[in-house]
Amino acid sequence: MPKIKQHNLQITKNEKGTEIIRFKGKFTKQYKVERYLRAKLRNQLQKGKNVSTSNDKDIPVDGERVIDLKAMAKKMFCEKCEDKFSLCDIQGETVQGLGSIFDVKCSKCNHVTKVHSSEKYINPVTGKSSFAINIKVALGALNSGLGPTKTNKFLKTVGLPGVNEKTFKVHERLVGPIIEQIARDSCIEAVTVEKELTVQKVEKLKLCLVTSTI
Ligand SMILES: [Zn+2]
Repeated sequence: MPKIKQHNLQITKNEKGTEIIRFKGKFTKQYKVERYLRAKLRNQLQKGKNVSTSNDKDIPVDGERVIDLKAMAKKMFCEKCEDKFSLCDIQGETVQGLGSIFDVKCSKCNHVTKVHSSEKYINPVTGKSSFAINIKVALGALNSGLGPTKTNKFLKTVGLPGVNEKTFKVHERLVGPIIEQIARDSCIEAVTVEKELTVQKVEKLKLCLVTSTI
């Protein structure tokens, strides 16, 4: 017989040794008690299936993302009632290269707040805001000698959203001149150091020649 609360069930024996069952204050048969308890258990299990917990919420966004943890954690609050968000509150997403703008619905007041996955900066080339991660991807790709096709192949393989060619080129135009300038500066610096060393060596050589002729 399934486990039941002791106070609901009383089992005694009569003079002939037959069990007398009282359930919820009434005389009954064992099979009736068992049938009642099985039905109750079935109902409880069915109810449990219908109760959604925060763990089995249907989140409409999936896959891998690159998140700036500190930047995003600072924004995971409702802009209306300041209640804390969880990732389960995400209702939708606008993807911009490797950056995302999440629509997060407050479970307290139902207001939807837009939360960015990383910091954004004003791109001086376009005058529009860009996710820092997209600038870093362009920098990394240029540094590794990868074009948009190979970069996307790499990103898609690891399950990240790709960067379309237009977005890639915009950021490449931003970081390209900076890299060239750094390269030029380091070349100029190397030439200057080389020149100074050569001058020092020539001066030393002259000094040696003078002392040897005296
Ligand atoms: Zn709220």
